[in-house]
Amino acid sequence: MAVGKKKRLADYGLQSERLLWPTKGPGAFEQEVESLEQRLGLTTLEKAVAWSQTKSMWPATFGLACCAIEMMSIVSSRYDIARFGMEAFRSSPRQADLMIVSGRVSQKMAAPLRQIYDQMLEPKWVIAMGACASSAGMFNNYAVVQGVDKIVAVDIYVPGCPPRPEALMEGIIRLHERVLAGIPPAYEMRQVAS
Ligand code: SF4
Repeated sequence: MAVGKKKRLADYGLQSERLLWPTKGPGAFEQEVESLEQRLGLTTLEKAVAWSQTKSMWPATFGLACCAIEMMSIVSSRYDIARFGMEAFRSSPRQADLMIVSGRVSQKMAAPLRQIYDQMLEPKWVIAMGACASSAGMFNNYAVVQGVDKIVAVDIYVPGCPPRPEALMEGIIRLHERVLAGIPPAYEMRQVAS
């Protein structure tokens, strides 16, 4: 079974050469393997699983502050997160794969956030949406956690205050690219907060 129309890993935007050297093409070996896969309709089980994960990644219903309004709008017809099979925001962490931390995390909220994260089944991913979730933004004080990566392992950071829904969509697409490329979730790579 061939996976989509993607031709190579570089098309997922993950190889640094692509960023530094956008016109760089795939290597001869990479071309041969990919074209062979496509012609023969082959894939590995890991690729098929990764593909299916990106098409059924359900976010937890979890909004914290102003950024949450932008997050909510991605289910609207204008942004249409349903195109990724992700419109089903789950009220139970046990049915969710993705935590979008949308807003500042107060010290008081840190423990419940971590508890919800712990209740999510693996594999699970985290997007830090906005300046506050990523680094506390303008709230450089004792009441706000100075970045949610202090308490959970973050896969993708979306900058902005607030990020527009398009920026969140970009973050989601980047996350899908990571999964498709076989990059493990952040909690598997980080020793902190895993
Ligand atoms: S990043 Fe800006 S919009 Fe988002 S929670 Fe912080 S202050 Fe609000």
